[in-house]
Amino acid sequence: MNMKIDPWSALNIDDYSKLFDEFGILPFDEMVREIENPHKFMNRKIIFGHRSYDLITDAMKHNKPFSVMSGFMPSGKIHLGHKMVMEEIIWHQQQGGDAFVGIADREAHSVRGMSWDKCRDIGINEYIISLIALGFEPDGHIYFQSKSEQVKDLAFELGSKANFSELSAIYGFTGETNVAHMLSAVTQSADILHPQLEEYGGPKPTVIPVGADQDPHIRLTRGLGHKMNMFKIEGREDKNGNKYFSIRSKAAPEDALKGLNERIPGKTKLFEGHVDVFNADNFELLLKTVREVELEFGGYAFVPPSSTYHRFMSGLQGGKMSSSVPDSYLSLTEDPKGAAKKVKKAKTGGRMTLEEQKKLGGEPDKCSVYEMFLFHLVDDDEELAQIYTECREGSRVCGNCKALAAERTEKFLKEHQELREVAKERLDEYGLSI
Ligand code: SF4
Repeated sequence: MNMKIDPWSALNIDDYSKLFDEFGILPFDEMVREIENPHKFMNRKIIFGHRSYDLITDAMKHNKPFSVMSGFMPSGKIHLGHKMVMEEIIWHQQQGGDAFVGIADREAHSVRGMSWDKCRDIGINEYIISLIALGFEPDGHIYFQSKSEQVKDLAFELGSKANFSELSAIYGFTGETNVAHMLSAVTQSADILHPQLEEYGGPKPTVIPVGADQDPHIRLTRGLGHKMNMFKIEGREDKNGNKYFSIRSKAAPEDALKGLNERIPGKTKLFEGHVDVFNADNFELLLKTVREVELEFGGYAFVPPSSTYHRFMSGLQGGKMSSSVPDSYLSLTEDPKGAAKKVKKAKTGGRMTLEEQKKLGGEPDKCSVYEMFLFHLVDDDEELAQIYTECREGSRVCGNCKALAAERTEKFLKEHQELREVAKERLDEYGLSI
C-alpha cells in the first residue's frame, strides 16, 4: 500500500498503466466515448485512468446531481500543474456538477509549518484568484479547511474509522509523526466526502480530478466512506441458483434494519443483522431506498468517490519539475517575458544539427516544448496534429517552434494576469475578501 507513484517522475502512460493495474484503476479510453464534449485532456490521453467515472458520465447524460471536488495545499506558487486540476474542476462545473474547491490550510500548517496568515494569503492570492480567473463560477464552493465546520466535524468522525497502521502504510507515518499531520490526512478525506452531506443535497457521485500520485488518498477515502456506511448490499445466489440481494447491517441500529424491511417493495425477509431481497429487478431503486433509510437513521450513505488521473508534464529542462529549480516550471503569476525566456531555453526533442533534423525528423514525444502545446498552448486538435507530423517529418525547426511556444506562453500569462486583476474585484461574489 506504499505510495509507489512519484508525481514528478517522467513516467509515460504505459508505466502509469502498469502501476495502476495493481490498484484496479481503469483506462479512461472507454469513458471518452460516453462523453459528449470531452475536455482536451481526455481526448489527448492526458487523463488516462479513472475509478467509477461511469457514475459521473451517467449523471452528466441524465441530468442527475453530481459533484466535483479537489483541493490545493497553499504552500507556494501556483503553477501549470495546479492549472490542470482547476481546468478539470471548471469543466465538470460547466457540465452541471456542483463544484467544491478546498484550500488545504490545515495540511500546510501541520506538514509545512506555515502560519495561518500565510496560508490564507497564499490560498487567496495564488490559488483562488487564478481559479476565478480561469472561469470558476460563483455557484461553486470555495473554502478553507480550517474554516469549514462541516469538514472538521466530518474529519473527526472519519478519524474514528482510520487507524494508525492504515495511515502509516499509506503515508509512511512513524512514531515521530505529529497528531495534527494525521488529522490533516483524515481532513483530506472529509474534503472529498463532504459534498455528499445533507446540506449539499445528500449522497451523490463525486469526482475528484487528481494527478497520478494522489490515488492513495482516493483509496483511503473510498475505504473510509465504505466503513462509515450502515449497510452493505451483496449479490448472492441460493442453492437452487436463484439470485437475490442481501443487505447486511454493518453498524445499523436494529430499527433501521426493520425500517428497511418495511420500505423495500416486493418479497423480503428480515434476519438478525440482514434483510434479504428476493425479487429486486430495479437495483437503482433498491439502492435509493437503502440510502434513504440510512439517512433517516442518522447515517451518511456515502457513494464511494470517483476519480480521474492525469499524467504530469516533465520539467522544461527535461526530467522532473521541481519547485526548487525555477527554470523547470512556469508559475501563473510570474513575469510573462521571463516565462517566455524559460520556454526558449527548454529542452526539445530536436536533433543535433539541422541536417539531421531534416533527415530523421524530431522527437516530439521527448520534447518539453511539444508538451507545452499538448497540455496548455494548443486547443485545436488539428493544429496539434500538424505540429506533431511536421516535427516527425523533419519539416519543423526547433528554433521557430520554441519561438511560437514562447510567444503563446507570454500571451497566455499576460491575459491570465489581467483576468486575475478582474477576479480580485469579484472575491465577494464567492464569499471571500483579501
Ligand atoms: Fe519539439 Fe518543435 Fe523541435 Fe519538434 S520541432 S522537437 S516539437 S521544438
